[in-house]
Amino acid sequence: MKKLMTGNEAIARGVYEAGITFAAAYPGTPSTEILENVALYKDDIVAEWAPNEKVAFESALGASIAGARTFASMKQVGVNVAADPMFSFSYTGVNGGFVMVSADEPGIHSSQTEQDNRYYAKFAKLAMLEPSDSGEAKEMVKEAVKISEEFDTIALIRMTTRVCHSKSIVELNERCNVPLKNYTKNINKYATMPAISMKLRVKVEDRMKKLEKFSNETPLNYIEWNDKKIGVISSGVAYQYAKEVFGDTVSYLKLGFTYPLPMDKIKSFADEVDTLYVIEELEPFIEEQIKANGIDCIGKDKIPNVGELNPHIIRKNILDKENDSLDTDANKLIPRPPTLCAGCPHRGVFYELGKRKNIMVTGDIGCYGLGALPPLSSVDTIICMGASVSAGHGAAKVYRNNNSDKKVVSVIGDSTFFHSGMTGLLDVAYNQSNTVTIILDNRITGMTGHQDHPGTGITAQGQETLEADIEVIVKALGIRNVKTINPLRLNEMKEALDWALDLNEPSVIITRWPCALKRRTEKEKNEFGSRFDICKVNESICIGCKKCLSTGCPALSFNLEDKKAVINENMCLGCEICSQVCPVNAIDTIK
Ligand code: SF4
Ligand code: SF4
Ligand code: SF4
Repeated sequence: MKKLMTGNEAIARGVYEAGITFAAAYPGTPSTEILENVALYKDDIVAEWAPNEKVAFESALGASIAGARTFASMKQVGVNVAADPMFSFSYTGVNGGFVMVSADEPGIHSSQTEQDNRYYAKFAKLAMLEPSDSGEAKEMVKEAVKISEEFDTIALIRMTTRVCHSKSIVELNERCNVPLKNYTKNINKYATMPAISMKLRVKVEDRMKKLEKFSNETPLNYIEWNDKKIGVISSGVAYQYAKEVFGDTVSYLKLGFTYPLPMDKIKSFADEVDTLYVIEELEPFIEEQIKANGIDCIGKDKIPNVGELNPHIIRKNILDKENDSLDTDANKLIPRPPTLCAGCPHRGVFYELGKRKNIMVTGDIGCYGLGALPPLSSVDTIICMGASVSAGHGAAKVYRNNNSDKKVVSVIGDSTFFHSGMTGLLDVAYNQSNTVTIILDNRITGMTGHQDHPGTGITAQGQETLEADIEVIVKALGIRNVKTINPLRLNEMKEALDWALDLNEPSVIITRWPCALKRRTEKEKNEFGSRFDICKVNESICIGCKKCLSTGCPALSFNLEDKKAVINENMCLGCEICSQVCPVNAIDTIK
């Protein structure tokens, strides 16, 4: 049977067909839908959201050592988090086949960095595959699990956004059920102590030579001969773009297995063509290795290494031809910066923080980043997941040691707190910095699309489970000053901030209210209510001061003719933040 699937759905199908029985991930664009779809195969696969990528990777590697075919997926920055066990597991090798996906995000649509994780394959000495479409993505999971078992290696599948999210035809096959492999205790393989690691290190080099031979022989790397004046070497989605631009007018070496590279195959292809182009998205990963082997080629001198690639860039930079396009007047386009949703429980937190003077706010990844933008403009730094608490700790120590009265407030979400905020907070307690940490508990992993986490009480496969209590954890980490408040009440937020900023000890404020877009569970309906109200501007009272607009709620606008604020009733959720800000009580709640 054939089906139209995204690359992420196809990877999940490949996980099913490959006989994988354990999968773990932490959500992150553009990888999130992979585990969401793996989780649907409830009868055959255990699929789990882990608190972070390192834990996802480690639980999958444990399952592999126990003998099961296993899988872990993450976004590109997630691999940075999982890198520690990844490097060690590369030395030990696997028992059951182990496949991991790095979903890279050229163009940085929702990440901190644009990174080409193919270099991880070279750095950690892994086998790597790069699909160009959904059909290949599914088949490559099956190939990857076999390569992993045959060569005793992690098999990394490197995807990029367009392969993850574009749809193409996938041929569905049966699941191959493989028995659990026998596990026998073997510390010479699985215990990376220095004397053992040194021997494993030699084994890894031998494995890489075998993998290069495989790379030269596998049909995953194949040549399409056409005119030999131009030869194109390409991989991943860049191959699709090159085909769109050149069609059948040039010859191709299509690389599906991209580490180690098939250097013999590349040399014989290069010998046959007059001019050789290497077309790849982001860094010159293939080009550098080709040039290091003394083969002349054109690559990044024509194709940029910044941002997403597309056929237009290839056409313009190699053929010097422009696409036909419509003219638009850019001045007529209204810029729309990203903003917190109407009714977002974080709005009041950032509104109150924005009013404070003499504080540094260390922010974190997720919807909290929106607090950095105007009109709220209350966040100073966003570095990486979990860094708000530890960065805040370092900054606070410097201020205190230099007799500065500047205070530091660290802002982090609930999912992020479980991901990597807890250790930072332990550092705050242990090394005693006087920071205020605000944990914005919106009861879900918000920005990636509402995945559950240890604080929600629901697993990736929908079962009820332990609901981790943030307040209990915070106290157990050594913080004595803890308050849980309703962030929709600005006076509660203000009083909590006054209290925390006056202390000479570390403190934590937990703001507990569900994300405005979240479907509330029965338990949450009991705690937070089940219905939303609407707010309305009473025009006879409104003095047109625009103070309500400073909350940045997208449901609010201003009528220039009447000089009155207006609330879009279709967007408003009646959170009442704007009405608490209005100096003349011109905003009423309609029950
Ligand atoms: S998704 Fe939820 S938490 Fe994020 S901005 Fe929107 S309402 Fe706020
Ligand atoms: S009550 Fe005000 S701030 Fe809240 S959603 Fe409605 S318009 Fe926005
Ligand atoms: S804050 Fe109140 S008075 Fe000022 S514009 Fe908004 S609704 Fe009108």
